[in-house]
Amino acid sequence: MRNKIPCSAERLGLLDPQMIQAISEGSAFQIAQKYLTENRVRIGEADDARITSTLIGNSGLYEQTIRLKDGHLLSQCSCALPEEPMCRHCIAVLLESYRRDQPQQSRNPRVPKGSKTPPLASASLNGNASVTQWRAADVKLSDAMQFMEWIQPATKAIQAHQQLPDAPTLKGSEVSIWIETIRGLAESRRESDQGSTRLTAEIRDRETHVRRLSEELRTSMDEMKATQTTAQALQLDIATCQATMAKVAELATEMIAHEEQMRVAAGELLQEGSPFQQFADSVKEIAQALKEAVRPSP
Ligand SMILES: [Zn+2]
Repeated sequence: MRNKIPCSAERLGLLDPQMIQAISEGSAFQIAQKYLTENRVRIGEADDARITSTLIGNSGLYEQTIRLKDGHLLSQCSCALPEEPMCRHCIAVLLESYRRDQPQQSRNPRVPKGSKTPPLASASLNGNASVTQWRAADVKLSDAMQFMEWIQPATKAIQAHQQLPDAPTLKGSEVSIWIETIRGLAESRRESDQGSTRLTAEIRDRETHVRRLSEELRTSMDEMKATQTTAQALQLDIATCQATMAKVAELATEMIAHEEQMRVAAGELLQEGSPFQQFADSVKEIAQALKEAVRPSP
C-alpha cells in the first residue's frame, strides 16, 4: 500500500515519536511500538530523504520504502493493510530510524565551540500536528567513509608531528565537527610542543649561565686564597720587623747608658789631668832656666 502525507520536515531524522504518533491511527501506533520492542525492523539504506527496510510481521516479511519529497512523506509497504495514512510497518520503521539516531546524539550532547547553534526545525504533519525540536545529529555513510579515509593519513601525520592532511569538505555534517575537534587537538599539541622546545632552550641557557657563574666564583675563591697567603706572609714580616725594632730600641738604651759612663770617665780623666799639667809646667820652667844657663855669654 502507498500513502502520501503533507510534511514540512527537512529530513526524515527530524521525525520523533510524538510527531509520528500525531499522524498515526492509535492501534497501528501501539502495534508499531510493540514491533520496535521486539526488534523486528531491519533498516537497509537510510539518508535524510529515504529509508528502505524490511519488517517481520505477524504473517511474513514485508518491505518498506519511505521518502521525503516536495513537502510530502511518501510511504510504501508490501503489506495489504488498510491503515491510514500509514501502516503499522511504516510507523515501526520511522520509530526504529529515530531510535537508531539516538545513541549518536547522546554521544555528542554538547555543541562544540565555534559551531553555530543548530537552527530550530519545525515540522507540520498532516496539516494538524506541529512540533518543534532540535536538529538531530545524523551522519551519512558517505560522510563517515570520507572521514575514515582522512583519519588514517591524519593519524600518521599526528604520530610523526606533521601537518594534518586536507580534510574533506562536509558542511553541516556531524563528521565536520569530529574533524574540527581533531584539528583543534593536533593544534594544541603542536603549540605545547613548541612551548616545551622553548622551555628546554631557556633551561639550557640558564645552565650555561650558572656554569659561568660557578667558574667565576671558583676563580674568585682561588684569588682570595692567594690573597690570604700573601697576608699571612706580610704578618710574619711585620712580626720580624717589630722584633728587630725592639732590639734596636734596646741597643739605643744601652748606648745612652755607655755615653753617660764615657762622660763620667772623661770628666774623671780631666780632673786627673791637672797634676800632670802642673808637672809639665814645672818641666817647662826648668828647661827654660837650663836654656838660659847654657846660653854663651857675649
Ligand atoms: Zn505495511
